[in-house]
Amino acid sequence: MHIIDGKATSIAIQNELKIAVDDRIKQGLKRPHLAAIIVGENPASRAYVGHKIKACEYAGFESTLVELPQETSDEALKAEVTKLNNNSSIDGFIVQLPLPDHIDAQAILECVEPTKDVDGFHPVNAGKLSLGLPCFAPATPSGIVELLKRYGIETEGKHAVILGRSAIVGTPMTLLLSRNANPGNCTVTMCHSRTQNLADITRSADILIAAIGKAHFVTPDMIKPGAVIIDVGINRIEDASRKSGSRLTGDVAMHLIDDQWGGHITPVPGGVGPMTIAMLLKNTLEAAGK
Ligand code: NDP
Repeated sequence: MHIIDGKATSIAIQNELKIAVDDRIKQGLKRPHLAAIIVGENPASRAYVGHKIKACEYAGFESTLVELPQETSDEALKAEVTKLNNNSSIDGFIVQLPLPDHIDAQAILECVEPTKDVDGFHPVNAGKLSLGLPCFAPATPSGIVELLKRYGIETEGKHAVILGRSAIVGTPMTLLLSRNANPGNCTVTMCHSRTQNLADITRSADILIAAIGKAHFVTPDMIKPGAVIIDVGINRIEDASRKSGSRLTGDVAMHLIDDQWGGHITPVPGGVGPMTIAMLLKNTLEAAGK
């Protein structure tokens, strides 16, 4: 089994970004500046935002964190988004998801200025991605493409099966792998909760991307020998051996896969997650250059 190390790759990219930032400073340009809005106290969201801020520090980016209480109204949140849209010192920003239930998340994302939408969630960026035009692509699927590239995994003509059709992972992943590019040129099958005979489809995947949010859903009998498995899922499961009583795991039952299995796989944690952060910073550097 070959491990695709997202953590090490993410650090390599952050080191490259650091060099690019130093070059900007030498040219008399400002540091790229990423802002994040977080609403409420969701511990997982707080942890993700914390990792993003820490990565900014590491790569020499400026960062700003806007923390709002759980009861923030749509109007108050839109006002914060407008402030960041109009703040010329900020190159790009994100609104950390999920938002509290009383907020219309889609309406908020549509208020983000597309040129600062480094998460790539605005319909303008999603539309450009589907047309193959330059845009900010969502960080998670971009990170997966980067991993395939850096690990020299051949994608042309391969059958890629994507489990999940969300706007932030499954759908953009389908677009990125099916485009005429390298990595790309895959024949893509996108699956969702109504897909029939799922295991028959996954067994034909040269590249299997699991992004459904169900712990250990993909079992060894669903995997083709020698396939490349990208596990996007982040699921918290009970684990009495841990002090916290729980741990994170992916959508793939990696612990059931034989060590002698000849394929490639991303672990959870340490696979796709760190790449998402690196690609967010990459998008921010690009925004700063515009
Ligand atoms: P969503 O809940 O938005 O989408 C889940 C998708 O999985 C849906 O399209 C759903 O189908 C599909 N699905 C659910 N059950 C099945 C099933 N039994 N068979 C086939 N398809 C199924 O999740 P996200 O895309 O936002 O995230 C997916 C996972 O990835 C989560 O664990 C999340 O935490 C993680 N994630 C990780 C990131 C990272 O940086 N590593 C970034 C973003 C997400 P339907 O549309 O029919 O409901």
